[in-house]
Amino acid sequence: MKRIILIFLFTLLCFSFSFAQIEKSGKKNQNKKDKEKKEKVTTKSKSDKESLKKKIIEDDIESLTDSAKTGLLLDYQSYLFSIDSNDQESLSGGLEWNIMVRDDNNNPNLPPKFRNWWYVKLEGLSTTNPNKINIIGDGWQGKHYVVPVYSYDKIDWQRFKPEEIYHSESSGSYYNYYILKKFEKSSVWVARYYPYTFNRLKNLLKSLEGNPFVKIETIGKTPQNRPLIMLTITDFKVDDKNKKRIWIQSRTHPSETGSSFVAEGLIRFLINDCNSCCPRVDLKKMIFNIVPMVNVDGVVAGNSRTTPITSKDLERQWIRSSDNHSILVDSVATEVKILEKTMRELINLGPKFFIALNLHQTHSPPNHRPFLFSNFSRMVQVNGEAGEMMFKRQLIFAKLISREYCGDTVYVRPSYEPGVPMEKKVFPESWWWVNFKDEVMAATIENTIGINGCFEEWVNYQDQIKLGEAIALAIGKYHQYFIEKKWFRYEAPNWDMQELLKFFIDNSGDQ
Ligand SMILES: [Zn+2]
Repeated sequence: MKRIILIFLFTLLCFSFSFAQIEKSGKKNQNKKDKEKKEKVTTKSKSDKESLKKKIIEDDIESLTDSAKTGLLLDYQSYLFSIDSNDQESLSGGLEWNIMVRDDNNNPNLPPKFRNWWYVKLEGLSTTNPNKINIIGDGWQGKHYVVPVYSYDKIDWQRFKPEEIYHSESSGSYYNYYILKKFEKSSVWVARYYPYTFNRLKNLLKSLEGNPFVKIETIGKTPQNRPLIMLTITDFKVDDKNKKRIWIQSRTHPSETGSSFVAEGLIRFLINDCNSCCPRVDLKKMIFNIVPMVNVDGVVAGNSRTTPITSKDLERQWIRSSDNHSILVDSVATEVKILEKTMRELINLGPKFFIALNLHQTHSPPNHRPFLFSNFSRMVQVNGEAGEMMFKRQLIFAKLISREYCGDTVYVRPSYEPGVPMEKKVFPESWWWVNFKDEVMAATIENTIGINGCFEEWVNYQDQIKLGEAIALAIGKYHQYFIEKKWFRYEAPNWDMQELLKFFIDNSGDQ
């Protein structure tokens, strides 16, 4: 007989951008706002369920790092939910939760695909029966693209099993899916992908304090008064004049946490003992300038893609004057202004840059490998011969990364707008192009989160750390080939265009 059972449906915690303000900053104003916020929430408490909510939120303020606060949660509702007998066996006694993914800053004008991050703590879970966790309104397609992760302590993270993820009915670009899982503990953190928080970055920086190869600087303050950090990594005992610079920026898009793992892998590789004693990426010859988290405010706010409040996509803020393509217009976002000012200062200081990398993560289908996103094409008429040379350099760089990352795993993807000259575009690479042409090999590197790790399994953050190491090694090789002209001492690189084009794959329909 078909029976109806009743299950409470909880949605947990409304983190959203207001929680960015709950960071333990120690500022009086901030604390006041926090208090107001807390009171606003808690004075609503009327029932036991509301008390539970109060308890959870207070607990979060006390114990969660800002990272856990970056989770997206939209709405708290508890209501009765009915299911049919088919589901009854698997759900009986379990709990059901809704995680409703919001637009960045609740801005409905942003494209749906920008809505792709959530990170929450669930409490009061059943440990004896499966819990159902509905993900509602992901702007990127559910199961085909995402297998979320969970942790009981925010340290050890695990992927859910793909068979624990189910599609739900979706409408338009609002994709819905759910997780059925019996947890071992009643309290768990769940996220769309392995979180990489501002706190984790701060811990990384702390671990680097005192390292003789690393200098940590604040190059400016974000609109919400957080430090924009740059690491300089080199052998400071060696005069800079014969070195070359490498610029690396990461985490422009907050949901692309993998780009932070890649950056961390790269940083740690450069300074590990092995590279110090017999360098494959020689810090006597290179200076790395690395901005590991460009959109700090967006990360803390739990946004998917843009800055808090203003909803700016910093990737497309490299807007330049139409009279002089090399100069940014005044209206660009603060973070981009700071980066550009720093780059200019380093250029004036010397020595010259020869590589500029922009680390991102794609939400492509699961079988996509990491790739260089080339804003260039083979169309000589668009960017001239220097453009073709840049394209070739990108292919070579992809090949060099691939060699260090489980074989032919990295490829180059063409521009979405192959007919548009670089100087008309508004990406960081366009800035490098108009200022340096192919003298600086500038490229975006997109890591992926699907089934494309070294072992054809769902990628985890260790794969991304390994990709960071591979990128470091590729930079070392690229330096040997193009700066030191030392290839005759090593295996001869095959610069044949037909051979290199194996690394060029046109599947630009996916993003
Ligand atoms: Zn991105």
